[in-house]
Amino acid sequence: MPELPEVETCRRSLRRWTAGRRIVGVDLFDPRSVRQGRSDRPTAGHPEGRVALDAVVLAAAPGEIDRHGKRLLWHFGDRALLLHLGMTGRWSRIDPPHAKVCLRLDDGSALVFADPRLLGGIVPTEGSRGRALLLEGLGPDALGAPLPVFGGRRAIKVALMDQAVVAGLGNLHAAEALWRAGIDPRTPAAEVTGARHTVLQRGVREQLEGTLRMLAEHDEIEYVEDAGAENPFPLYQRAGSSCPRCGALIAKMTQAGRSTWWCPGCQR
Ligand SMILES: [Zn+2]
Repeated sequence: MPELPEVETCRRSLRRWTAGRRIVGVDLFDPRSVRQGRSDRPTAGHPEGRVALDAVVLAAAPGEIDRHGKRLLWHFGDRALLLHLGMTGRWSRIDPPHAKVCLRLDDGSALVFADPRLLGGIVPTEGSRGRALLLEGLGPDALGAPLPVFGGRRAIKVALMDQAVVAGLGNLHAAEALWRAGIDPRTPAAEVTGARHTVLQRGVREQLEGTLRMLAEHDEIEYVEDAGAENPFPLYQRAGSSCPRCGALIAKMTQAGRSTWWCPGCQR
């Protein structure tokens, strides 16, 4: 499931694949993937999606792509596309299953947006509105800004996943970052202060940057949930295995409805 490193990798891939190119055609296989506003409901499909998409991508060359948290804003002249990958979305140059939208380039190549669960989407917009949509409701970016000071009694793992507090971390990277920092995921957020906050900031940074370096080794993104994908993470889905740091058995619990893998031996 795409979180900040996967979305940032998508940003870099789209820039690399479209450098110096123009988009010359659009195939819309599923109109539900084009949205009028920022929504993860497939029923929110844009009634004029085809026209709106053409009006952005055919009118100007593909330009810079901004990222905030897990959202992207792809500029085409004074217009833009807001891209959201949702739970299962990806952009690819190979022909993936569940293709929803295809952008054809002037060199004969094609970029396909695939999204089996339709929770991601593409919002054609004016550039200025796009900027607002990119940031709306989100806290500071988990990679581009210092980690905010947390408050409240809720668990630090749950606070890290709250996009309004810090944007970009999801279930997997929040848990792995807490393991790197040696912090118990159940710790009340307000107690993560001082030296612990500094260690968590470093853990988040190392988790995101380390994952980015790993993803950069391949031209196409692979999600850890993909069939046959390698799992490079020390905790994720490894309950009952030994912690690579302290040797204790990795445990799994549920927090705010999501699975948290953690090490009772070295996360205090
Ligand atoms: Zn451990």
